[in-house]
Amino acid sequence: MPSYIVLLGPPGVGKGTQAEIIADTTHLPHISSGDLFRENMKENTELGKKARSYMDKGELVPDNITIDMVKERLQRADCKAGAILDGFPRTPVQAGALQKMLSAFHSDVDVVPYITAAPDVLIDRASGRWTCKAQGHIYHQKFNPPKVAGKCDIDGSELYQREDDKAETVAKRINIYLAQTAPLVDYYRAQHKLVEIDGTQSIGKVTDALLSAIRK
Ligand code: ADP
Ligand code: ADP
Repeated sequence: MPSYIVLLGPPGVGKGTQAEIIADTTHLPHISSGDLFRENMKENTELGKKARSYMDKGELVPDNITIDMVKERLQRADCKAGAILDGFPRTPVQAGALQKMLSAFHSDVDVVPYITAAPDVLIDRASGRWTCKAQGHIYHQKFNPPKVAGKCDIDGSELYQREDDKAETVAKRINIYLAQTAPLVDYYRAQHKLVEIDGTQSIGKVTDALLSAIRK
């Protein structure tokens, strides 16, 4: 039976960091909608051009574009055993579409770890975030610095600061999260899939809590 894990939580809380770690432990692929959009932007595809205008402003990309992109990704062979979804779904329409996609594979979302932290923590984290150009590996200038400044430990590529990680854009993204994504907390809680995790803990402690949620 495949395992689909949805990581839920506000921007900057640590979803991408944790998804990288648990992808290694569970051998499930890490599917990040934000990374998929950023890859398309880097390659200047039609999808990337459409997404950029929303992303740079901190707004959500329209549901139909996002759903088609994730659907194509989940249909690839490496997702047969399941996947760790990071950043998708982000609206009730996307959550409904995900359920439909997975039911086509006779499957469903198994568990929804919900990682939380207060807005000031999120702004501190996102504004110190450094992202690797080649593969999107994630660092923080204070909390998780690379061994060599400006270079990814894993693939040696250059690190950059995301356009949408400026403090004012992060604040806007948090508001959009509260309006559009927070309703999913109730949706998954009603399905008894939600497991709340305190995201203000160290990276290692959050990983421990996540692994215990997944193994239950
Ligand atoms: P964060 O690391 O803050 O959670 P992401 O990398 O997940 O950010 O997302 C960055 C941006 O990409 C979002 O602000 C939005 O513009 C776009 N995006 C990512 N996932 C989605 C989604 N599921 N629906 C709509 N837009 C999305
Ligand atoms: P999200 O995908 O939810 O937007 P990220 O995983 O990209 O979040 O993390 C946002 C920033 O916070 C990154 O710079 C990351 O290195 C840092 N970070 C992640 N988890 C923690 C943690 N538990 N403690 C301190 N900093 C963290």
